[in-house]
Amino acid sequence: MTFEALGLNTSIIKALTDAGYTAPTPVQQQAIPAAIAGKDLLVSSQTGSGKTAAFMLPSLHRLFAIEPAPAGKTPNQEMQAARARNERPRFKAAQPKMLVLTPTRELALQVTTNTDKYSVNLRRIKAVSILGGMPYPKQMQLLAKNPEILVATPGRLIDHMESGKIDFSQLEILVLDEADRMLDMGFIDDIEKIVAATPDGRQTMLFSATLDGVVGNMARRITKDPQVIQI
Ligand code: AMP
Repeated sequence: MTFEALGLNTSIIKALTDAGYTAPTPVQQQAIPAAIAGKDLLVSSQTGSGKTAAFMLPSLHRLFAIEPAPAGKTPNQEMQAARARNERPRFKAAQPKMLVLTPTRELALQVTTNTDKYSVNLRRIKAVSILGGMPYPKQMQLLAKNPEILVATPGRLIDHMESGKIDFSQLEILVLDEADRMLDMGFIDDIEKIVAATPDGRQTMLFSATLDGVVGNMARRITKDPQVIQI
C-alpha cells in the first residue's frame, strides 16, 4: 500500500517522503480514503499508531490541496489598514476551517508540529495551538492572524470563544483526539459547548482508545453515519 493509492495530493506525498514516511500505517490505510470522501469517522487506535496523520493528511487534502486560495485580507491586514487610515482597528474574530481538540498541551503541540511538517508544500497554511497556561496577549496575536487550523485544549478554547475571539461559522472539520482522555479529565461540558458552536454540516472525526461507554455515547451524538474503524 502506498500514500498515492490512498488518493492524497502529490504536494502532501512529497512532504511525507521528505519526512521519511514510506508507507501508510494500518489506521492511515483505513481512515484516509474515508475521510477524503467526506465521511465522519470513529476510530479506536492507540498513540503511536500514526493517528495524527490519519486525520491531518485527508483534512489538508480536502481543505487546502484542492481548493483555490481565498481572496481578501487577513484580520491582521485589515487592522493594519485601519490604523493607516487613522481609524481605531477593531479585533475581528478568527474563523478557522479546522479544529483539533486534544486533552493535553503536549499532544496539541505535537499535532501542530506534525501539521507544519505535512503542509510545507501547500500554500501558506497556519496552524496554531491554543493552550491553557499560555499568556493571553500572545494567543490574541496568534488568533489575529486568522489561522486556518486551531489545535486546542478545551478549557482555554472556551475562554476565547466566550470573549468573541473565535467564530466557528466557517468550520468544516472537527477532530477530537484522545476523546476518552478528554472525558476522563472532565472536559465533557466544554466539548459539548464547543461542538454546539460549530456548523451541523461539518465533518467530524473522533479518535479514542475505546469507543465504549460514555465516549461511545458522545461519539454517536456528534457524528453522522460514521465509518467505524477498529485497529
Ligand atoms: P502518532 O500515533 O500520530 O502519535 O504517530 C506516532 C509517530 O509515528 C510520529 O512520530 C509520526 O511522525 C510517525 N508516523 C506516523 N505515520 C507514519 C508513517 N506512515 N510512516 C512513518 N512514520 C509515521
